Amino acid sequence: MDQTQHPHVVVVGGGFAGLTLARALAGKALHVTLIDRENHHLFQPLLYQVATAGLSPGDIASPIRSVFSGKPNVRVLMAEVVDVDHERREVVFADGPGLAYDYLVVAAGAETNYYGNDGWKEHSFGLKSIRDAVQIREHVLTAFETAERETNEDRRRELLTFVVIGGGPTGVEMAGAISELGKHTMKRDFRVVDPTQIRVVLLEMADRVLLPFHPSLSDEARKQLEELGVEVRLGVKVTDVGDHYVEVDGERLPSAMTCWATGVKPVALAAALGAPLERGRVVVEKDCSLTRDPKVFVLGDMAHFAPEAGGRPLPGVAPVAMQQARFVARAIQRDLRGLQREAFQYRDKGFMATVGRSRAVLEAGKIRMAGFVAWLGWLFVHVIYLVGFRNRLVVTLNWCWSYLTFRRGSRLIAQRHSDASLNALHERRSDHPLNRVA
Ligand SMILES: Cc1cc2nc3c(=O)[nH]c(=O)nc-3n(C[C@H](O)[C@H](O)[C@H](O)COP(=O)(O)OP(=O)(O)OC[C@H]3O[C@@H](n4cnc5c(N)ncnc54)[C@H](O)[C@@H]3O)c2cc1C
Repeated sequence: MDQTQHPHVVVVGGGFAGLTLARALAGKALHVTLIDRENHHLFQPLLYQVATAGLSPGDIASPIRSVFSGKPNVRVLMAEVVDVDHERREVVFADGPGLAYDYLVVAAGAETNYYGNDGWKEHSFGLKSIRDAVQIREHVLTAFETAERETNEDRRRELLTFVVIGGGPTGVEMAGAISELGKHTMKRDFRVVDPTQIRVVLLEMADRVLLPFHPSLSDEARKQLEELGVEVRLGVKVTDVGDHYVEVDGERLPSAMTCWATGVKPVALAAALGAPLERGRVVVEKDCSLTRDPKVFVLGDMAHFAPEAGGRPLPGVAPVAMQQARFVARAIQRDLRGLQREAFQYRDKGFMATVGRSRAVLEAGKIRMAGFVAWLGWLFVHVIYLVGFRNRLVVTLNWCWSYLTFRRGSRLIAQRHSDASLNALHERRSDHPLNRVA
């Protein structure tokens, strides 16, 4: 059957929301076009494992095209959408002619937020894409290699100092994983580098890590980090981030690799939608559509959905994006059957964060857990939500192997740094081959 005879649903973004929506509409009497500027869906919750050599990029990313290979009513386009022409009902691409839609769903996610300190981008790494994660991995591993050759003790300590800014789930996971990488994985493989010299500093402005969690779990996570040797500094303000240093309340810390894990903001496309914004997120109605056009929906990290008028918006997490996507798939089908739309209701199943091997915190309603059982829960949830059987199998086997051996399989440096000095570690900006992949 000619799919183009059916109403055309254009979905921008093949992340958690976009992919879930297109999957829900696959096989239905609709013509679906899923557009993403990348060719892969990325499982962002496991990015930190790629950044710390626990997993390979291919283990947590799936080619979007292959997800829909057996679904003839879903077409996949790799392209960047830069605008929406509401009058012509077309999405506008960065290159090439536009694409007309009957329904439009925009779920283009978020990007690293430097809160106006854009100059700090040059000297730190966000964690939002495969490129970010690979760059962090390369720079952490190169710092270890450089330290092994360094004869000056003080300088070696500097090369083994890593600073993570932001004590949310990503910062906590990164800090714990870098510390484990150095103290457990690397210790047998280096002769000069002494694992006790590795210093990981986690900086957080609030008075506790993991703010969305109950204070008792924040405290537990801090203790677990400290057991791993992470130096947790709470209630501190970063005043400068420069070439291999971070200034915190006037004190200058050396840093071989600085990870910026303080938060995200919606991608630029949000501002182009011509709808009201709240902290950069697009304000949507109770059915996730725009007030100006009920056939245009905005989902996931891009959307500001407040369950109560003037109340707190739903958080930018994967379950919100996926539940909204399933809801909108139903809403479109109800429209086509002439039924009235319902209001979206989020079912909060709780949240979790891992601190390291056998360490995690979990909160679901009144249930609060920390330690090994929470960690098993974290492993289970992350494996079942990965896209594709191959990835689930590979990640599970990788984790079993790492658990038994303390080893990490992806310790590759693909980009060799010509100069082994600290300065060469930051040869990563526009001239760096990894950045040219974009
Ligand atoms: C490091 C990290 C760890 C996280 N850990 C967790 C966790 O443990 N649990 C949890 O629930 N959530 C976690 N999150 C948050 C979660 O990943 C997001 O809430 C979720 O991805 C939002 O889904 P989305 O579909 O809105 O956006 P995304 O999944 O980000 O997808 C957006 C897609 O849009 C594409 N895109 C962007 N702009 C354009 C454009 N102009 N044109 C075409 N395509 C475009 C992007 O390439 C991307 O594929 C984490 C996020 C990060 C960064």
